[in-house]
Amino acid sequence: MTIVAGIDIGNSTSEVCLARFNGDKTVEFLASGIAKTTGIKGTVANLQGIIMALDVALSKAGLDISDLTEIRLNEATPVIGDIAMETITETIITESTMIGHNPATPGGVGLGVGVTCSLAELAAARSGEQIICVIPHGVDYEDAARMINSAIDEGVLVQGAIVNQDDAVLIVNRLCSNIPVVDEVTMIDKVPLGMLAAVEVAEAGQTIKTLSNPYGIATVFELSAEDTKLVVPVARALIGNRSAVVVRTPQGDVKARTIAAGVITVFGARGKADIDVDAGAAKIMELVERVQPVENVQGEAGTNVGGMLERVRQVMGELTGQSLNEMKIQDILSVDTFIPQKVRGGLAGEFALENAVALAAMVKTSRLPMQQIADQLEKRLNTRVIIAGVEANMAIQGALTTPGTAKPLAILDMGGGSTDAAIISRDERTFAIHLAGAGDMVTMLINSELGLNDVDLAEDIKKYALAKVESLYHIRLEDGTVRFYGQHLPPEVFARVVILKDGSMTPIPSEHPLERIRYVRREAKKRVFVTNALRALARVAPTGNIRHIDFVVLVGGSALDFEIPEMVTDALAEYGIVCGRGNIRGIEGPRNAVATGLVLSYHGAEAG
Ligand code: ADP
Ligand code: MG
Repeated sequence: MTIVAGIDIGNSTSEVCLARFNGDKTVEFLASGIAKTTGIKGTVANLQGIIMALDVALSKAGLDISDLTEIRLNEATPVIGDIAMETITETIITESTMIGHNPATPGGVGLGVGVTCSLAELAAARSGEQIICVIPHGVDYEDAARMINSAIDEGVLVQGAIVNQDDAVLIVNRLCSNIPVVDEVTMIDKVPLGMLAAVEVAEAGQTIKTLSNPYGIATVFELSAEDTKLVVPVARALIGNRSAVVVRTPQGDVKARTIAAGVITVFGARGKADIDVDAGAAKIMELVERVQPVENVQGEAGTNVGGMLERVRQVMGELTGQSLNEMKIQDILSVDTFIPQKVRGGLAGEFALENAVALAAMVKTSRLPMQQIADQLEKRLNTRVIIAGVEANMAIQGALTTPGTAKPLAILDMGGGSTDAAIISRDERTFAIHLAGAGDMVTMLINSELGLNDVDLAEDIKKYALAKVESLYHIRLEDGTVRFYGQHLPPEVFARVVILKDGSMTPIPSEHPLERIRYVRREAKKRVFVTNALRALARVAPTGNIRHIDFVVLVGGSALDFEIPEMVTDALAEYGIVCGRGNIRGIEGPRNAVATGLVLSYHGAEAG
């Protein structure tokens, strides 16, 4: 009895396929195993994950390591898809101090304009003076209201107030006139005093109108056209808020400064070309496709993109122990995005959405120390370990076990770091390519566009559907349907947007409405996977023409996604391509293609 294990070490996942070869050379698949890849693909740190995945498969089959005849590892392509990604943007810094946030309960309503004055100094204000009162931490709301009322009695025109604590409503209820009050301003000490300021609070259920409009701010502060340009980011950051404060600080207090996004130089087989990152993702990708295959990419020194590409090469060089000049960037994927950019001068952590370009870069190393892994595994397990077959070819062999497939066939392996494509012709000739950008980039885009700062949460948003908890007994799913519950839901999910994950609800701790989160999620998937599917298939197509491909099978972890396969299928349908999610061996879904191919190649070796 011959027991063979095929093991695929991916950037994210290590997968095992376990099979028995009977005397008559028929193969009987026994079990599969999966574990998170430990360490970077192709390094001995992978051993731990390999052994875990192997244990899973063996115990499912009721076998022991000593039963193994042979382990077959994939000849991993010397491409590391563990991609460094960053959003590249101009850094814009503005002139005004601003506070724009959505305290749950601002007080009063309307727009007030006046000079900022601390509560303690209010008694000294002159009659007829227009004042915005600044109420620091630790002041009782009764005292604050009393002092403001007495100033108003003296003829001081108190136009609005800015409060540190969550007291706006309590104060307004005790005032003799209705003025807008913005509360929960954490950095109240930083509010400059003696400066012209505007406070705006919208009617309940509405958003502010004046301070979210550059011309509104210009009117309030009598700005020149030149100064109005500078407040554009302030106004943009305030759009959609229920309340806001803008303080005019003296010229020169905060200097406007920009760090350029930078210029990328792409070195390709057909020459080199430069492009400014500001040109946007479409232009960058156009250039990459024009000079491809890409041999290296460099970024302009001293710019955002220069720093990013240099870091990618450094990290990869260190991890693989190769010198920096051996580290070549062999592909980049750029995607238009926007990032919540902290607005300089903001006192409550305000953000403006800035357009940016996200980049995934893939480094090609001259070799991966696969033999080392094989040697150590052989010693540890006391079993024959063989490096068998090129990853992409194995993936095709595995994909062909999907019921209903036949040669010629193309596959798209949508993993975490890279999107790989391979094609096999009727006469068994194969060709494969590897492109930067896959599931991890989608996660990164979701994380940055929603300003989550939490990669695990972004990963869950990517993988699971959303719902809005509308009452304690029902939720509305993102497709509009309603689900009722006999028992009341936990109070912490009430009125929140939640992720429906494995029967539980995870509330998303952000203010974004469901529609926005869904939009960001779907756009990120489209921009990465539709772009890369078209790019990848065009490169492996026999004549460079994607229309000459008839059948495509989607494999890899990202093919498990509940939307990505549909999006790719739709996009490919326009080219007359039949495309669908793989179902390896009729049972594995899109997983286990490479591992299965490795097992099948054993059969081939013996038969041949
Ligand atoms: P690799 O071959 O590079 O190891 P995988 O084929 O394991 O990569 O794919 C990893 C990617 O698949 C990750 O980006 C992960 O988020 C994604 N992924 C895994 N499971 C799912 C799922 N159920 N839905 C959507 N994406 C998934
Ligand atoms: Mg893979």
